Amino acid sequence: MAAVRKEEVVLPQRVPILMYHSIAGPGEPAGRYSVPVDRFRKQIAFLRRLGFSPYTLDDLAEGRAGGEKPVVITFDDGYRDNLKYALPVLEEYGFKATFFIVSGLAGKRAEWVHGSRELMNWEEIRQVRDRGMNLGAHSRTHKRLSSLDQWQIVSEIEGSRRDIEENTGISVRHFSYPYGCYSASIAETVGDSGFHTACTTDSGFASASPSFMRLRRIEVTGMDSVFIFGCKLIYGDNNPSIKQKILGLLYLTAEMLAWRRMHF
Ligand SMILES: [Zn+2]
Repeated sequence: MAAVRKEEVVLPQRVPILMYHSIAGPGEPAGRYSVPVDRFRKQIAFLRRLGFSPYTLDDLAEGRAGGEKPVVITFDDGYRDNLKYALPVLEEYGFKATFFIVSGLAGKRAEWVHGSRELMNWEEIRQVRDRGMNLGAHSRTHKRLSSLDQWQIVSEIEGSRRDIEENTGISVRHFSYPYGCYSASIAETVGDSGFHTACTTDSGFASASPSFMRLRRIEVTGMDSVFIFGCKLIYGDNNPSIKQKILGLLYLTAEMLAWRRMHF
C-alpha cells in the first residue's frame, strides 16, 4: 500500500499521541524518561475513566481515528521494562500501543540514558507483537540522524524497518526519530523508505502536525501527576500554562463529577 499523505486524511481536531519511554518498577526512581508503573496505571485508568478511545498509528494514518476523545500511545526505545510493566496495564484496560524498537541493539543496553537500561531482545519483541501491540522502528543504533551522511541515514532508517520485519514477520509502517532529531531531507528519506508515519518529539496534537512524517506528540514524564497528565492531554502541550492549568482543573473536575453521576 502506498504511503498516505496527511492532507488526504481528516484527523480529529485534538488527537494526542502520548510518548513514553521506560516504565519503572516498584521502588525504582522516577525520571524524565521513566514513569513509575503505579503512576502509569493511574494515567491509563484516567484515560479509560474519562472515555478516551485508544487508536493506533495505523488508525490515524488511514483516517480511522475518530470520536470525541481519541488517544494514541507510543513507547520509544523498546525497554525490557515495557514488556514487564506496561503491557499488563495496557491489556487490563484494553489499550494498544506502538513500541519503537532500536533494531541493532535488541537484547543490549541503552547507553544513551542515565544509568543505561536493558532493551528487549527479539524473543521479547515477538511477545509484544503476539500480545496485539504494534511495532515501529527507531533506527538501528539510536544516533542523531542529522550527524550522519546520507548512506548512513538510509541504513539507519530503512535498515531498521528491514531488521524488524525479518525478525518479526510483520510489516513496519511507523518510525520515530532518535532524540526527536530530523530535517526536511531526513523526513523525506523516511517517507521514501516505506514508512507511513514518523513521530517527532515536537509538542502538540497530531492534527497540528505539518505532515505524517512530522507527527507531534505529548511527552509523559515520570514526574507528571495525573492532573498535569490531564492538562497535557486536553491542551496538547508539554508545558501547560498557568491559565491552562486553571481551566484544566475546572474541566477535569466537571468530567470527574459527570463520571461519578453516571456510576454512583
Ligand atoms: Zn529514543
